[in-house]
Amino acid sequence: MIPRVAPRDDVALMDGYHSPQVDVPVRLNTNESPYPPPEGFGSRLAAAVGQVAWHRYPDRAATELRRRIGELHDVGPDQVFVANGSNEVLQTVLLTYAGAGRSVATFEPTYALHAHIARLSGATVIQGERDGDFALSQEEIDRVLAGGSGETSGPAPSVVFLCSPNNPTGCEEPRPLVEAVLARVRAAGALLVMDEAYGQFASWSAQELMGPDEPLVVTRTFSKTWSMAAARLGYLIGPGWVIDELEKVVLPYHLDALKQAAGIIALDFTGDMEARVAAIVTERQRVVAALDELAVRVWPSGANFVLLRAEVPGGGGALWNALLQRGVLVRNCSSWPRLDGCLRLTVGTPAENDAFLDALRAALAELAR
Ligand SMILES: *Cc1c(COP(=O)(O)O)cnc(C)c1O
Repeated sequence: MIPRVAPRDDVALMDGYHSPQVDVPVRLNTNESPYPPPEGFGSRLAAAVGQVAWHRYPDRAATELRRRIGELHDVGPDQVFVANGSNEVLQTVLLTYAGAGRSVATFEPTYALHAHIARLSGATVIQGERDGDFALSQEEIDRVLAGGSGETSGPAPSVVFLCSPNNPTGCEEPRPLVEAVLARVRAAGALLVMDEAYGQFASWSAQELMGPDEPLVVTRTFSKTWSMAAARLGYLIGPGWVIDELEKVVLPYHLDALKQAAGIIALDFTGDMEARVAAIVTERQRVVAALDELAVRVWPSGANFVLLRAEVPGGGGALWNALLQRGVLVRNCSSWPRLDGCLRLTVGTPAENDAFLDALRAALAELAR
């Protein structure tokens, strides 16, 4: 047999990213917007295709897109870094500030890609633990920022992740807690990365804490709120001295010309995006109120999704299946560490949410029998 090249030892041990893409009528599993982009976006984008100088490399600095994103957040273009989805933003941050011999801190359960990409960079991941209500204690923060203990320990982390609202719990991180973490991160000479993929649905943003000397960056995406998951566009707001380092690491011309145009056009529809966010928040409140009447536990959410736990025979997997049988796909988190029995539901259109609630009532009745 011809020997095959082996992947890196650490990669061989890894699980990739799994989220089944099943074609059913109601798909509430990946936190996308339930609505396509606004009227007018498509025709503007079609016109932009004809304007692109396809034989030339795109604007490497994405000048206009960064200027427009900066305007949205009241910062200059030199404080904006853009990439192919916020996952590529996170990867660039980790290639720049993590890597072999360094540690990265996460507080679990949280977005799995933080730890995954950190490990791919060669870094040690120090995993902090949240309590039963997914809150973080000062002692746990201190333990992790000092380099952890037991199974996950290493050098004091150079990158510390928080996610607010947190995926998959939906919980918002309270401002005083983030201030306390930032103070410790500053003292340790590390970087705090605040993943705000769902920031528009939340009551506050860590952007309020940013300053020229603060080691704080905030990441955002066009995937969830902007109805543009297919476009793969995300960005980071942070001090210019961080942006300069990231630009050294990311591949040259990584952001294609059409995507840059798509982002600029989308920003002309900011009003529509804000109206959709408001509508989804209203729907979220309606769905949570309905769930409160059923035999499920629900955590408070500041995002466009809700985490729930049902105590049913067969657990979360059985409930997930029973929903799928009724044409409703949600995210099955029940086998993830710390999320026993949990499912995550994306808030959809009113009709989709009604379909979910009907399916859930029927599934709970069936499983209780
Ligand atoms: C969806 C998600 C992302 C990734 O967004 P992309 O911009 O689509 O890469 C990042 N962080 C969190 C917490 C997410 O839920």
